[in-house]
Amino acid sequence: MLRNRLLFSQNDKNKSQARTAICRKPRAAHNIGLRSQPKAKLAAILPALVVAFTGTVAAGSTFSAMAANNENGQIHADTKENVETHFTVIAHRGASGYLPEHTLEAATLAFSLGPDFIEQDVVITKDDIPVVLHDIHLETVTNVENVFPARHRDDGRYYARDFTLEELRQLRVHERANSDGKQVFKDRYRGTRANFKVATLSEHFELISELNRQFGTSVGVYPEVKSPAFHIKEGVDASKIVVDALNAYGFGGESGNSYLQCFDFNEVKRVRETLGYKGKVVMLIGENDWGESDTDYNWLRTQEGMQQVALYADGIGPWLGHLLDNEAMTQGKIEAAAWIAYAHENNLTIHPYTYRHDALPAGMSSEQVLEVLDKVVGADGVFTDHLVPVLRWREKLN
Ligand code: CA
Repeated sequence: MLRNRLLFSQNDKNKSQARTAICRKPRAAHNIGLRSQPKAKLAAILPALVVAFTGTVAAGSTFSAMAANNENGQIHADTKENVETHFTVIAHRGASGYLPEHTLEAATLAFSLGPDFIEQDVVITKDDIPVVLHDIHLETVTNVENVFPARHRDDGRYYARDFTLEELRQLRVHERANSDGKQVFKDRYRGTRANFKVATLSEHFELISELNRQFGTSVGVYPEVKSPAFHIKEGVDASKIVVDALNAYGFGGESGNSYLQCFDFNEVKRVRETLGYKGKVVMLIGENDWGESDTDYNWLRTQEGMQQVALYADGIGPWLGHLLDNEAMTQGKIEAAAWIAYAHENNLTIHPYTYRHDALPAGMSSEQVLEVLDKVVGADGVFTDHLVPVLRWREKLN
């Protein structure tokens, strides 16, 4: 087991070095490659894609029509020299498909499975300590409402910012739940006895550093500054705290094995211009109605928007729903959304979120989703709750 792990790690390390070069290399805008038997494969999944991404079945779409469409060249065959041999795998909230998200246990399991990066979402406590939690609120992943029933704000929510680290340590972390208390993903971890805890960003960085040192690996970190504007209003500079932690643990700097991510474009600018951060940065892209920030995500996905993003960021993190051209799909074609070309033109690394093995687009297999990301979108990797299927697919790819 250990031997396998070490072999895999070494292999991964080599790939990681290869990836560094890949990240920086200019990409041809439409040079979206197909490998050995891709046309038949893609044609075969077209009907599923149409349904999955548009909710409709394309009228008159037939295998031959779709194959002909592919031959017409909106997807180009690639020369062997252009084929990338790597696809970055990012453990989304640790191995969150198998253990409660963002716990040290989830990070440890993720490490053992061999991803390129492990993600940490970061919020700040009352005593200004960065902790690894996905939300500024606590009740979706902890028992805060039982331990500190009176400590909610007027909106009924419990804010991590209102608790000291010592208080947060008294909570138990559980699998993500809806407001009715039911697990969001019912087949994930169902145990009730193991005492999972909120952990600090330093604990996560130290854990990954120490495991890398002992196993000779180079698993990177991928922290996200959550709701920076909220934190500034609360009187704390969350980005500065995260940048300082990245630098303190050797993950920062131009050659640091990390990406810093944020949904707030003004904050991404501030990280570069005011904080002078030199490490790799990813601009996350969501929908305007999610309320993640004041950023206009529709504008970001324009030629001008992508040019602006590229002035400050090394890459983008779009969600799956933005990647394909919905209109083309209703006609039985799989094409990347038009704006994806602007991202490629600006040499932006593309790391979409989120692969979930238990919430795949309807009618699609695991491999089909990954094939589309890799070959149609030209994505450079993916955030995944489930590392095992994605790593298995990548093994075959490489
Ligand atoms: Ca995140």
